[in-house]
Amino acid sequence: MVDAVQLSLAEGHDLAMRGLVRSGISPDNARAIADVMMSAERDACQSHGLFRMPGFCTCVLSGRVDGAATPVIEDVAPGALRVNAQKGFAAPAIEAGMPHLIEKARTQGIAAMAVTHSYHYSTLWCDVEHLAEQGLVGFAFVNSRAFVAHTGGVRPTYGTNPMAFGWPRPDGPPLAFDQASSIAARGEIQLHLRDGKPIPEGWAIGPDGAPTTDPAVGLQGAQLPFGDYKGAALAMMVELLAVGLTGGNFGFEALQEDASDGGPSEGGQFYIAIDPARLAPGGVGAVLDHAETLFDFIEEEDGTRLPGARRHAARQRTPKDGFEIPESLHTRILELCGETG
Ligand code: NDP
Repeated sequence: MVDAVQLSLAEGHDLAMRGLVRSGISPDNARAIADVMMSAERDACQSHGLFRMPGFCTCVLSGRVDGAATPVIEDVAPGALRVNAQKGFAAPAIEAGMPHLIEKARTQGIAAMAVTHSYHYSTLWCDVEHLAEQGLVGFAFVNSRAFVAHTGGVRPTYGTNPMAFGWPRPDGPPLAFDQASSIAARGEIQLHLRDGKPIPEGWAIGPDGAPTTDPAVGLQGAQLPFGDYKGAALAMMVELLAVGLTGGNFGFEALQEDASDGGPSEGGQFYIAIDPARLAPGGVGAVLDHAETLFDFIEEEDGTRLPGARRHAARQRTPKDGFEIPESLHTRILELCGETG
């Protein structure tokens, strides 16, 4: 059992702000990043909570990422915008672009947003939930440096390339799923390594192409797509949407970048928002009510749950109970805050 430190969400946010700002990230950008990390802790997504904090700091300290970048928004078409993150983190760029994407989707019925020259290190469900809370259907795609082999291959070819989908619901939080194209997020393998646990069979192969349950060997080799060639095809689609369409580095090209500081690679993000009020036959109310019958049908069967249900349950708990991080991570974050040694 790893020694742990208990924090409230407010304490976690404050700790994140202190370390991010001390590392050279502007207060506005640090706030956007801290918000995203704490939404992950609030929803019990450890792999994208404070676990990511050292990486956010070290890639700014190394000079690779501009922590003070101000995103630039380009209105490229009635239904499309581009947000240039200016070699900064994705979170402030996405936050800056979202109101414009929402406005365009409401005006046009459907709109797209490309985020370029950015470093992404987060979950996607927070973005599609945000769109769905505004009554929009949302899609999000992001690539990363290559970690995942194409089916039949050994070379890391794709990022773990998550995709997320959000759907508004009349009562309660939106329906949202957010899943990597790999069987497991890379952060999950890193957490297994940190905690000294083997990874399940099928998550990764070693550099020799042989299956492995050793997280260290899997991290050196390649992760596997979910669903064999079907997951590989989705990983390819995410590369084409998030990078092919927007510019930037494919996952295999990002391998050329020296990221030995441990932070994220330069990649792209792509968002689509659809206003059901514009498309829905019989009006938006009828369409959302009809969707509820599908959710009811799924949930009334034993052994099922909707995606997001685990996160939403955690969201009830953590504001009261707080969350835990390993003591070693807490110590490292305090170092980044300049509060030890
Ligand atoms: P998971 O495999 O844990 O979950 C994927 C989705 O499936 C979630 O929406 C989850 O909902 C849902 N789900 C899980 N179990 C069930 C079930 N039994 N029934 C119904 N739905 C279920 O996520 P991943 O490991 O693939 O990804 C984790 C996170 O890592 C994501 O947020 C992703 O965006 C992020 N990531 C970020 C990357 C980046 O470069 N920025 C790269 C790769 C991943 P629930 O959450 O409620 O369990």
